[in-house]
Amino acid sequence: MVANVLKKDTLERWTIENSVDLYGIRTWGAGYFNVSKNGDVVVTPLPEKKDVAVSLMDIISGIKDRGLDMPVLLRFQNILDSQLSRLHESFRTAIELVGYQSQYKGVYPIKVNQQQQVVEEVAQFGSRYHHGFEAGSKAELIAALSVMKDREACLVLNGYKDEEFVDLGLYACKMGIKCFFVLEMPSELELILERAERLHIRPNIGVRVKLSTKAGGHWTESGGDRSIFGLSTTQVIDVIDRLREKDMLDCMQLLHYHLGSQIPNIRDIRAATLEACRMYAGLVDEGAAMGYLDLGGGLAVDYDGSHTNFTNSRNYTIGEYCADIIETIMATLDDKEIAHPIIITESGRATVAYYSVLLFNILDVSRFETRPLPRKFPKDTPELILNLHEVLKSMSIRNLQECYNDALYYRDEIRQHFKHGNISLRERSLGEIIFWHIVKRIARDSKKLKHVPKELRDIDIALSDIYYGNFSVFQSLPDVWAIDHLFPVMPVHRLQEKPPRQAVLADITCDCDGKIDRFIDLHGVRSSLPLHELRNDEEYYLGVFLVGAYQETLGDLHNLLGDTNVVSIRVKENGDYQFTREIEGDSVADVLSYVEYDPKVMLIQFREIAEQAIRKGLITAQERKKIMKAYDAGLRGYTYFER
Ligand SMILES: *Cc1c(COP(=O)(O)O)cnc(C)c1O
Repeated sequence: MVANVLKKDTLERWTIENSVDLYGIRTWGAGYFNVSKNGDVVVTPLPEKKDVAVSLMDIISGIKDRGLDMPVLLRFQNILDSQLSRLHESFRTAIELVGYQSQYKGVYPIKVNQQQQVVEEVAQFGSRYHHGFEAGSKAELIAALSVMKDREACLVLNGYKDEEFVDLGLYACKMGIKCFFVLEMPSELELILERAERLHIRPNIGVRVKLSTKAGGHWTESGGDRSIFGLSTTQVIDVIDRLREKDMLDCMQLLHYHLGSQIPNIRDIRAATLEACRMYAGLVDEGAAMGYLDLGGGLAVDYDGSHTNFTNSRNYTIGEYCADIIETIMATLDDKEIAHPIIITESGRATVAYYSVLLFNILDVSRFETRPLPRKFPKDTPELILNLHEVLKSMSIRNLQECYNDALYYRDEIRQHFKHGNISLRERSLGEIIFWHIVKRIARDSKKLKHVPKELRDIDIALSDIYYGNFSVFQSLPDVWAIDHLFPVMPVHRLQEKPPRQAVLADITCDCDGKIDRFIDLHGVRSSLPLHELRNDEEYYLGVFLVGAYQETLGDLHNLLGDTNVVSIRVKENGDYQFTREIEGDSVADVLSYVEYDPKVMLIQFREIAEQAIRKGLITAQERKKIMKAYDAGLRGYTYFER
């Protein structure tokens, strides 16, 4: 039996298709990522031209030639372009299919990725669809206004608004920008009315409502009765009454809700749309002008490729999302003979997630290896250790759980005796070696069981290697740390080889939270990632995919590791590609100045310290020169590991 398995393992050739299945690249890749014949991950950013494929290894070598170091965040402009098209074309298809009598207008919520380049490119690629923006703060409004050239695009103003915010929005209206003030709090109305009157502008007003519908997923509290944002139905009625009093019901044009981000279940989306339509109809009954229905964000990304209602997935396609929304609105409003509204959605995650890939190299590996057992144990080996060895010898497929319990018992006893001085350091080490032999056997044999006892299920984790990656979880993948978010991670080359090791990833912060030890899997979550052996003469590169949404500005300067280098790529129809933009990551001086150091002053202070060392005769003046140069170079350098 065992011999058979071995033979099969060595004889069966590992193919690229095996890697494709193992890492699931075609299930989560949405058509944008694939593996080439020579085993590299390739990007296929043009939906109509699947043969146009750019190898990530090619790009890495181009990046190195230009003198940039890992880690690097890659942005593929075509993917952003294509995601915007997918969204608009899907709505267009759904609208045409059932004869919906109005249109779709998208807005991009700036908070999802506020980087100047991203906002500018959304404006650029979105212009053919009149894609607008959603701003949730003054700074976001100011950022949006710098790119709002399109007079048909919408600008939705959410968030808590002060006078300055309101005035800027009103000026935008005056300049012909289609701008909506969405009331998050009842008190905002008076401020808007007062400023509008003073500036002689009739504002477009919207209300953010609290729905009773709740969605599954991480962000359930954004929606529902207990949501901290939005107006209750009673407060909505108050707004209507006040506007009627001011003869301004024509200004009331938009209903908005946001159920939360990453909604995995289409049922929740449908239920929320239905409830919102009833509210919309109610507002029309009250005499409000209306015309716009803004469904917020929530369109999810299938991070694990499972196409289920698991938190990191979604059980629907973009097409189904659009069709369900359109049909629900029609069914609800046609009954009451209410004109179809212009539909707005504020999809952020689905728009930008696919666009970015984080690349980093592996610096080192700490392998899990069991030491061979000695042939003969020393004569005076303590009883406890001999007992532990007996456990190992008596193991069979039938008593794995029992052996595991016994092994834990003896290991703990051995440690206790060590603490009391009855067992020597060398003896304790022998005990640990035997213990790991037992664990390894259990991990191997439990795979043959039909039903694996709960305690033994995750035993693999203890046996994983640790691969140390040149990146910071806190800076580049904050959601991995903060909310256990899962992103697809895989090697970007050598995929024609079988990856024989099982690993977890550690970053270079040396913080015990600076790790990735949960990985995507079609059936749940995997606790280790299959990886290749490192080779002496070449770097090993991994990619973390689908990281374009929420990661960049939520990241922090833990251990003073700063922003990574960013490289933007535009792929042309003929398969050539250009580096359209390079943004150098933070230098050490940059991150130090974020925490209020002044690099100039630091140089002066350090020079003083070096000068004292000369006075004490510890270094020479020439050495001071060298040391100062190293310090200065360090300040200018990248915050990550440089080879
Ligand atoms: C965060 C947010 C969004 C974006 O949601 P996604 O799920 O990323 O599309 C949209 N609207 C509002 C009001 C938000 O707060």
